[in-house]
Amino acid sequence: IRAGWLDKNPPQGSYIYQKRWVRLDADYLRYFDSEKDTYSKRLIPVSSIFGVASIGDQKFEVITNKRNFVFRAESDADRNEWIRTLQQIAEERKSKAPDRTLMSSSADSATEPADKSGFLELRGFKHKLFVVVAGDKVFLYKNAEDYRLGIGITYIEMNVGNVKEVDRRSFDLTTPYRIFSFSADSEQEKEEWVEAMQQSIAEALSTLEVAERIWAVESNRLCADCGSPKPDWASINLCVVICKRCAGEHRGLGPGITKVRSLKMDRKVWTEELIELFQQFGNTMANQFWAANVPPSEAISPTSGSQERRRFLIAKYREGKYRHYHPLFGNQEELDRALCVAVTTSDLAETQALLFCGASVTCDTGDPQCPTPLALAERSGQRLQMEFLLHNKTSGWFGGCCGAGWSSGGLPSALLCRSEFSRRWCTLQDGVLSYYENDRNAVPNGEIRVEEIVCLVNNPLHAHGAWHGCSGRRGWIESTFEVYTEAERLYLFGLESPDSAREWLKSIAKSFVHPCAEELLALDFQRLGRLHYKGGLTLERAQEGWFALAGSTLHVCSEDGRQQEPLQLRKLQELCECPCPAGGTPWMGRTRCPPNPAPGCTGRTLYIQGERKLDFLGWVHAIQKAAGSSGDTLSEQQLTESDVPLLVDRCIDYITQCGMGLTSEGIYRKSGQNSKTTSLLEVLQRDARRIRLKEGEHQVDDVANTLKRFFRDLGDGLFTRRWAPDWLWATALEDEEAKLGEYRQLLAALPPVNRATLKALINHLFRVQCFSGENQMNTHNLAIVFGPTLFQTDGKDYKAGRVVEDLISNYVEIFNVALTASCPQQVNDREMKKQQDEITAIMKMREASSSGTQQAGDFICTVYLEEKKTETEQHVKIPATMTAEELTFEILDRRKIVMKEKDYWSCFEVNEREEAERPLHYSEKVL
Ligand SMILES: [Zn+2]
Repeated sequence: IRAGWLDKNPPQGSYIYQKRWVRLDADYLRYFDSEKDTYSKRLIPVSSIFGVASIGDQKFEVITNKRNFVFRAESDADRNEWIRTLQQIAEERKSKAPDRTLMSSSADSATEPADKSGFLELRGFKHKLFVVVAGDKVFLYKNAEDYRLGIGITYIEMNVGNVKEVDRRSFDLTTPYRIFSFSADSEQEKEEWVEAMQQSIAEALSTLEVAERIWAVESNRLCADCGSPKPDWASINLCVVICKRCAGEHRGLGPGITKVRSLKMDRKVWTEELIELFQQFGNTMANQFWAANVPPSEAISPTSGSQERRRFLIAKYREGKYRHYHPLFGNQEELDRALCVAVTTSDLAETQALLFCGASVTCDTGDPQCPTPLALAERSGQRLQMEFLLHNKTSGWFGGCCGAGWSSGGLPSALLCRSEFSRRWCTLQDGVLSYYENDRNAVPNGEIRVEEIVCLVNNPLHAHGAWHGCSGRRGWIESTFEVYTEAERLYLFGLESPDSAREWLKSIAKSFVHPCAEELLALDFQRLGRLHYKGGLTLERAQEGWFALAGSTLHVCSEDGRQQEPLQLRKLQELCECPCPAGGTPWMGRTRCPPNPAPGCTGRTLYIQGERKLDFLGWVHAIQKAAGSSGDTLSEQQLTESDVPLLVDRCIDYITQCGMGLTSEGIYRKSGQNSKTTSLLEVLQRDARRIRLKEGEHQVDDVANTLKRFFRDLGDGLFTRRWAPDWLWATALEDEEAKLGEYRQLLAALPPVNRATLKALINHLFRVQCFSGENQMNTHNLAIVFGPTLFQTDGKDYKAGRVVEDLISNYVEIFNVALTASCPQQVNDREMKKQQDEITAIMKMREASSSGTQQAGDFICTVYLEEKKTETEQHVKIPATMTAEELTFEILDRRKIVMKEKDYWSCFEVNEREEAERPLHYSEKVL
């Protein structure tokens, strides 16, 4: 709008005016060293200017919220012209946003909310700059205060930018005019900056044209999966518009299931036909099929986490769990025939339902002139049908190398014929499972060679009930089982009774399971098959093994017939799914199991590797499910190695470790926030393994109440319905010794999980009353609270409190003596000593941190140097952000150890048995 040379008033202390090239456009007033410069020395957003005044001597002043800028023109005429233009522009800006107040005009002076902001070093500047990535620009500010005011140094338009990593902490932002060399504080920080800037470049180069046309249909303006607004990604074969976060999870499903493209960046893929297809289809039509039966408890929202998203998307698109089943489902020939008809009409919804219920895109149409559905659609002039078929051509539903759908068969004992299942006569002979049209046919419709079978699954009763309801008739099929083959095909068989299904399963299993794994056949397995895995000492080579899942136990037999200790999945420390690095196998799963007690067995971490997607995903799901809590009794929870529910362990740990826990006044008596307690209990019950309670995020009283609520609602109670009356009765014994003896006997009678949990809880309460001076909760007070909770008596029976009081007061006598059989008395003393030491250490740390240096979320950990001895022990306060590298340096520093050139120090995680368990990557967070 206006540009010219002006003198800028000098910085404080100096009288010499500086000559600056000043430029004004619709958004910014900027000044430069020279007219050739691209990057300004200063930028003032027009929106933050609220006054311009003449101050004599050819000078004028630009007034912003906090700071004024004085310029001197060459003549009065020039000065007046600047003032007039500036006033006009500022006025226009104000009228455009009349509701904008003085304060907010400075607050939103950065044109867009920041995608990323923070301090970075920039070569050539003494101090760190405050850098903001916003939309398609990167802004530089002297400090955070300037950013708030909107007064910046310059901005960099990213359409000409290019980001390149230089070393661990540095990266260059290159433009044709200048190279900006930035350094971040850490490698992770650097990576985040690089990613943010790359996103910004992508955004600068993107186009809105496609997105706007697709958003013209209202249902496309919210993510089809989670409901986030303005979704700018899409799955082009499923025809859904999705948000960025869901798009990330879609990619994890693989292109065989969903092909993810950006509405803004992948310009080439968006042909006229594809855009029209999305307009016709819309998220509504897609969800009428894919999300016809989503239980509210499984649906996701814009705020859902990535795990939750993935689980939902796998269920939705890979398993088709919420589908609206087509009435022909299960009948391949009918499905194919119907597809050939549908593609010649404009009924895209029908084509969608047929295709994703198993119709084959490449089926034989029986018409020599148009041998494929695609050719049929073309002849009928159905452009959108063609487009839809094309994008689904290579995907073929359910794993499809060959566009295979489900094959289904009835077994010989089948009595009735259902339209969903085709009844087939099956035989299992000489290693071949064949199915025939009927028992008189000599030529089979299909065959499965048993050596090609990789997995058998016994489905729970009525697992496939959905499609009976769908067609409105009750089915004869009570039980189903699945057979997976190497060619990634899945065959579903249905039978009228669970017994006959099991019989068939056993026969098939016997014929394909290697003799070395025969013992697995005796199990009542839900899932049996072969998988590759690494474990124990043979980490470098994956071997094939036979796996059987029965209840929450995973049995593994190696190829040489050596059976591994069965894995108790509820006791896993960690269960994670990691995508395999480039090449090789498609998936890899990792389960970390507790150390194996049997000598010679070293299986600590078990990596299960999928050679094929279809059956492996089923395994991952089944293992995840089996590793979770299954009910409301103690033994159905996820457990620690010492048989204490993880939930209990997490809560006790938090209260012991967090800053105010043990000393918090009225702990366990004060009530927390009801809604927080409810939701915390719910997430912990769902998967305690994933939850880390953190200071700042959780309140002590909420956690304490969660623990109480858990015991109050526990199925069968901590003392069990069978034994609780005996415990209450024992309080009446007058002779103290006789009473304690009775308690010990009753303790021994409890199931192991209840016994271990009671011990852990009373141990914790014992510690709590050690602090009664501060928390006001002495043994009696704790007993009043916990008696009715543990006995679930609603306070009607005073004896409940008596039991708890006795247990806390006589903790050492009752619990330790009960264990003397395996543990000599000294060990018990040592255990008590260790606890006292820990309490002291915690107290010390707390005093040290009362100065306010401790951050929320800090945890106090014990760290050993080189070997596990008391002398090498250090108690370190670990913030949530601390990496293994930082911790290592901290320890070395404390111990005054100087790093020599060839020294390598690593940080190892130590397990509950205090054995080194796993090295941490240096950039990994310790907590
Ligand atoms: Zn979404």
